[in-house]
Amino acid sequence: MLDRLTDLILFRYTNQGKDDNSNSTPYITMGSIVWGGLVRIGIIIVVTWSVVEYYDLRDYWMIPLLLIVAFVIYPASRQYYHFTGRIEVMQEETLCGSCKHFDPTSQLCRVFDEHVSTTYIPCEGDSWEPLSYEERS
Ligand code: SF4
Repeated sequence: MLDRLTDLILFRYTNQGKDDNSNSTPYITMGSIVWGGLVRIGIIIVVTWSVVEYYDLRDYWMIPLLLIVAFVIYPASRQYYHFTGRIEVMQEETLCGSCKHFDPTSQLCRVFDEHVSTTYIPCEGDSWEPLSYEERS
């Protein structure tokens, strides 16, 4: 729990080496990217608001914006590119990647509501249904 919270605040960079398609539970998903961004923006707002009020630093209003870019937008974009690249590989390498029940934004099987990976296919192929032509493009 503490490990996960720390990773969230530290942009999960510590986990990026571990986050691959063989994990039964992915470290980075769209949900974790958004949640991590919200946690960090909340911390930045509370801290900068307190500092600005205490030291009367209203002339330095650009600093919170730069902090948000550096600690929220930039890490979130790095995580997003890491995540989408990993999912693209998963879609090419696994049976689930070509199944209509696979949700790439959360790496979930919609039928079993479980994360899929290169080492774990919840239905073992029994519920596989091909993507339609429109879904593929
Ligand atoms: S139904 Fe089976 S093949 Fe399709 S996403 Fe779920 S586990 Fe994968």
